Amino acid sequence: SRQGSLLHAVDRTVTGAGARLLANRLSAPLTDPKAIDERLDQVGFLLDAPDIRDHLRDVLKATPDLERALSRISLGRGGPRDIAAIRDGLVQGTSLRDSLVAEADAPTGLTEVRADLGTHEELIDRLCQALDDDLPLLARDGGFIRAGFDPNLDELRQLRDESRRLIAGLEARYRTESGVENLKIKHNNVLGYFIEVTARNADKMGEIFIHRQTMANAMRFTTTELGDLARAISEAGDKALGVELALFDGLTAEVLARAGVIALAAAAMARLDVATALAALASEQSFARPRIDDSLSFVIEGGRHPVVAAALASAGEAGFVANDCDLSREQRLWIVTGPNMAGKSTFLRQNALIAILAQMGGYVPAEAATIGVVDRLFSRVGAADDLARGRSTFMVEMVETAAIVNQATERSLVILDEIGRGTATYDGLSIAWATVEQLHETNRCRALFATHYHELVALTGCLDACVPHTMRVKEWQGDVVFLHEVAPGAADRSYGIHVARLAGLPAPVILRAEQVLETLERGEQSG
Ligand code: ATP
Repeated sequence: SRQGSLLHAVDRTVTGAGARLLANRLSAPLTDPKAIDERLDQVGFLLDAPDIRDHLRDVLKATPDLERALSRISLGRGGPRDIAAIRDGLVQGTSLRDSLVAEADAPTGLTEVRADLGTHEELIDRLCQALDDDLPLLARDGGFIRAGFDPNLDELRQLRDESRRLIAGLEARYRTESGVENLKIKHNNVLGYFIEVTARNADKMGEIFIHRQTMANAMRFTTTELGDLARAISEAGDKALGVELALFDGLTAEVLARAGVIALAAAAMARLDVATALAALASEQSFARPRIDDSLSFVIEGGRHPVVAAALASAGEAGFVANDCDLSREQRLWIVTGPNMAGKSTFLRQNALIAILAQMGGYVPAEAATIGVVDRLFSRVGAADDLARGRSTFMVEMVETAAIVNQATERSLVILDEIGRGTATYDGLSIAWATVEQLHETNRCRALFATHYHELVALTGCLDACVPHTMRVKEWQGDVVFLHEVAPGAADRSYGIHVARLAGLPAPVILRAEQVLETLERGEQSG
């Protein structure tokens, strides 16, 4: 489900192609600061020009999905509405290009968009002349070529309509001739055209009427004259449809002959949609432009989790607490401790998400951000098993940890949300301990490590770039208040039992847990 995803939280695109491109960019962030800056320049330009941005978005909103239409047409599955989509898409493209032409100081990315939108006047004119206003879904339904486009087709249609008028005349004549007032000429798919009178009037019908069918209270007839007319109508109709289909093939070929430039224009519109959407998002959510360089720094001021912050805002709850994060060389590894529910996972993930958003070329949910380009982002979060592939929960956790320790480089960003939880306490603690040492000494990556093993804080004393941070809480009238603030230091308790009570564990269990905890803590101290 998209709900609750980063994509859902940051997607302000207004076209299908734009939405697809945004999803692609999010799943493939860049690592070249120059390329990232080029994208950021576009967002910045559009952020500073709200009028142009709103206008572009209005035009984009009314733009059909060129990419889809073109692909259906090139697969031979296109219908008249796809050709119309090409026509309307190119018309909108021209309007977008015209709006961009006036912008002399536009960044390179937007100048390229303008160039790729191209000129398609000839094809647009041709398609405007060819296609009618109301279009059928399928070409074989006919009736989509505008009157006046093809004289041959007009003639056949006239013939067909003429014959229909003759049939109406015939009905009137048969009524007077037979004296049957309610005589009607009807049409269905089985009999074609036929004359219908009520059963009571059947014997009034003269010799020229040839019996076709007897119904419960009606009788149906035909005449040679009606047969001839019907044939003429159907022939003219068939011929007209044949001509329309040939014209359709011609139009398809004309579109396909320009498939390359149309695809370029479609891609340009998708890029423009993404750039305007990111600018709209930045303006609406007060995102900041990240500074991306080749250094190894990672400094976020007032960072927010885009999804959690949006969820809190839409639930009308108290605001999200922004937090700083500084993983400069001399403090590149943070051990984050703090009670359950205090916001450790949120903090870890928000920094990873900020890195992704920045490197895909978007503004970030922070007051300021300087990011030395991240070559790979590793995360080990949550607990899940992969039983079908023969992996228990702990095995999955270890496989993921192994991947990180084996692959993270100095340029990587690693977030580890607890490791070693799925096994015996001392086994887990030892693994976590050794992993922190390895990340610090060998991988030398920037890392955030959240843990409830408060013993790990001791490592910050012997590893020089490893620093402790904690989530602040306040104890108030026997209750715990989560402040969601990250501060230097270490937590001494996890308040796990407090959270268990909030979650609805029955009172006797909570009481007993408190007794056991007390005993264990005393035992640990004496030991
Ligand atoms: P655990 O140790 O139990 O996994 P945690 O410390 O990782 O807990 P989170 O899961 O990050 O805690 O956060 C719990 C909830 O607290 C979030 O769902 C969110 O609603 C709220 N929260 C977290 N961070 C913030 C923040 N900075 N501002 C406001 N609310 C926050």
